[in-house]
Amino acid sequence: MERRILLIVLDGLGDRANPSLRYRTPLQVARTPNMDALASRGSCGLMDPIAPGVRAGSDTSHLAFLGYEPYEVYPGRGSFEALGMGMELKPGDVAFRCNFATVDENLVVKDRRAGRIKEGTAELARAVSGIEVDGIKFIVKEGVEHRAGLIMRGEGVSERVSDVDPHEEGVRVNKPRPLEPGAERAADALWEFLLRAHEILKEHPVNLEREERGLPPANFLLPRGPGRAPDLQPFGEKWDLKAAAIAGVPLIKGICRFLGMEVIEDPRFTGGVDTDMVAKFSTAVPLLERYDFVMVNIKATDIAGHDGNPEMKVKLIERADEAIGETLMDLSDVVLVITADHSTPCTVRDHSGDPVPIMIISEDVRRDECTAFDEISVARGTLRIRGTDLMPTLMNLSNRAEKFGA
Ligand code: ZN
Ligand code: ZN
Repeated sequence: MERRILLIVLDGLGDRANPSLRYRTPLQVARTPNMDALASRGSCGLMDPIAPGVRAGSDTSHLAFLGYEPYEVYPGRGSFEALGMGMELKPGDVAFRCNFATVDENLVVKDRRAGRIKEGTAELARAVSGIEVDGIKFIVKEGVEHRAGLIMRGEGVSERVSDVDPHEEGVRVNKPRPLEPGAERAADALWEFLLRAHEILKEHPVNLEREERGLPPANFLLPRGPGRAPDLQPFGEKWDLKAAAIAGVPLIKGICRFLGMEVIEDPRFTGGVDTDMVAKFSTAVPLLERYDFVMVNIKATDIAGHDGNPEMKVKLIERADEAIGETLMDLSDVVLVITADHSTPCTVRDHSGDPVPIMIISEDVRRDECTAFDEISVARGTLRIRGTDLMPTLMNLSNRAEKFGA
């Protein structure tokens, strides 16, 4: 019979030998009786999110293990950064990363970051978002500090326009030029939008007040690094699965929404180290009555890796293990997967290309020799896969795969 699939992603879980943990990994050191018990009931192993040694971003790795060939479908950071800012992206949209910058009356860049403006950018973004030029709509959303996202939507948009950001101060902003035939309309509309936005921004109360206080006004949007959102087959259609996702961070929620998955929202799903893991898992389990596939992302472990804090990572792993013990030990007719999207070693403070531990548990999944869930013990297990192998593997184990041949 067909089984449902529950995929738990402990973000950035994988690690390396840490000197302050006597050269063991946080996952080796953490007390994880529940994950170890699960490991002894299934198949364990290692997964290369993209390929051996490739340092995956959270976006490229999630795309890969959800079954999309990342080198074919990843359009560059621009559009995925827009997702990370919580912007809704549609296939065909062109997204830019932007700075709020300060220009003078001749459009000469005085400060590329508007004094690293910290407050008021939400109001500024709202004031210029939604402007339409020649049938092309421009959507703006604030990011952290001086950063923002800009989406160009509609017939005739193009990512083949030259950079507006001169990448230095004391020179005029660049008027965008088309980089290929057909991109003229997009380049013209972008320039017209930026000039109109400038008129609005320079008179905006947030900027008038900044000038009164002697601070550089955020009076120009400097877009760069455009990327076009790919036209991907929705996840549910691709695998014939009704799918839902639970995540806290905007990037993961954005990717799941972009792939047509139902994203379940709850104020307890924060995407920080304070996230309520029990709430996430106990929300996921009953969802399996209505959905064939549920993914849960826990960001906290990745944060500890970026902070270079192995003790915190150990504690967060132990919290995850307790939450798993409370909610996921006795699922029936479910293929349960626990893995990571990439390694975030505390010694590196960023993502590395080390493979991640993975375990797959279900009634009749082969039980291998592995009885503990950590990067070293799982190597005694039977799995050695790449991210793009995960969905076919799960389709098989959930008895949903189509036979190839007679
Ligand atoms: Zn990640
Ligand atoms: Zn990360």
